[in-house]
This record gives sequence, C-alpha cells and structure tokens, in this order.
Amino acid sequence: MPELPEVQALVDFVGQRAVGRVVTDVELGSIAVLKTFDPPPDALLGRPVDAVHRHGKFIDLDVDGTHLVFHLARAGWLRWSEALSTKRIRPGRSPVALRVRLDDGSGFDLTEAGTRKGLAAYLVAEPTQVPGVASLGPDPLAAGFSREEFGQILDGRRTQIKGVLRDQKILAGVGNAYSDEILHAAKLSPFALAASLSAEQVDELYSAMQLTLAEAIDAASGKPAADLKDAKRSGMRVHGRTGEPCPVCAEPVREVRFADSTLQYCARCQTKGKPLADRGMSRLLK
Ligand SMILES: [Zn+2]
Repeated sequence: MPELPEVQALVDFVGQRAVGRVVTDVELGSIAVLKTFDPPPDALLGRPVDAVHRHGKFIDLDVDGTHLVFHLARAGWLRWSEALSTKRIRPGRSPVALRVRLDDGSGFDLTEAGTRKGLAAYLVAEPTQVPGVASLGPDPLAAGFSREEFGQILDGRRTQIKGVLRDQKILAGVGNAYSDEILHAAKLSPFALAASLSAEQVDELYSAMQLTLAEAIDAASGKPAADLKDAKRSGMRVHGRTGEPCPVCAEPVREVRFADSTLQYCARCQTKGKPLADRGMSRLLK
C-alpha cells in the first residue's frame, strides 16, 4: 500500500501534469468504487483541474471547486498515461476502476488488483465530507507539527507504539511499512507502550519519523508513478526484509505475523536482543 511518501510523490507527479488541463471524461469500471452519488461524475466534465493535494494517504483532485478524493488502499494503484486508450472501459471486465481523461488525451486510471476491494473514490464539495479525511490526525510533516504535539499525542496512551504510528486517526499517512522503518531508526520495540516512552525516546522517535519520511519523499519525488512501488521496496531497511541482515548491526531481521499483516524488526537494535512473541509461530508449534 502506498504511504505518505509515495502518495506525496503521486500527488506531485499528477499535479505537474494535470493542473491547468480540462477534464473531458470520467469513466467508472466499477460502480462500487465511487462511494458518493451527488454530484455525479459528469459534473467534472469541461472543468479545469485547479490543484492536487494530499490528505494523509488520500489524493484530492480539485476540479474547479469539486473534489475527486480517492484512497488507493491495499491493492489499488494510479497509472498515468500521456495517451490514454480511447477504448471505453467495460464495467466489471477491467482492472480499471476509474478513469479520468484530460483535454490533451492524457490522464490516469485507478486500478485494483486482487479480490480485496478497498479502493474508494468520492466526489465532494469539500474534502472533509470524506469520513476518512475528516477523522485524520495531524500530518507528521505539516510545518506546525512539533515535538511537543507529538509528545501530547503519546501521553497517557497505553497502546503499542506500532499501532499508534499507523492509526490514521492519531497520525495521518504512516502505515505498516514506514512504522517498521521509523521504529527501527528510533531503536524502539514495536510493542513498547506509547505512554511508557521516556522523553529521550520520544525525541528519538520524533526525529526518526521526520527523517525517515523526508528521506523517503526525496527518494520518491520526481519518479514516475510506475516506478514508485519498486522505489518504496528498495528503500526499506527492515520492512519486508525478514532474514536479511540488519543494515545497522547485521543480525538477521525478524518478523511477527498477524492474521493479515506482518511486522519486521531487528531484535539486537530494537528489543535488547530478545525476540518478540510471534503468536502465529507459537500456534504452529503447539
Ligand atoms: Zn540491527
């Protein structure tokens, strides 16, 4: 799933190409992807793209005051084309869920692979009419997001820091992959309780978060949409690298498996050498 850095790169990429262009067609390959019915997609036709913004992991195309907001979810992606196919999509028969065509023949497809349909698009007058946008916590890279504000967020929260970092209602934009990376950089256990961190650990975590996200944005920015997935994967130090050497201490990276996700960490760097309980594994051994 694309997270803050990839979504920011997509926003910049699409913004550079689409702003100033006029929308000439919006096609739906899947009715289910559009979660709103008023205004209809035709309301965008003949109107210019004024701006492209990011809200957490949501992308927001401001088309003359009407907003097409979408979230790529786990298996969704944005495919940009300088010359979109002129064939119309056949609803239900195409991996393309939504297509936006611009007046120079360019545009983009939102695609979704697999059966887990999480891709969601909304047409609204204000981005905050999208429930997932309205409930977003602060953006960790927003200019005003300070160490103090971060500390207040963690204060009194007796939940695991990994879960806090990836909860969109608490912090916008960080998901499973970057939370692994941030915790590795901060040398913190993913299972540490947020409220139990010392002031020094919060300092460390705050800087690790800013640095990890800023570096990932640098690495992603300017890359074409098609290259972002590989760029994300290759920039990861521990996430998705179970068994590979930790780039800091060379110990093999470990993982903890959950029902629908895994997390990776380095025991030597993050948990004083103690492996974390892997419930999936202990169930298998029983
Ligand atoms: Zn290590």
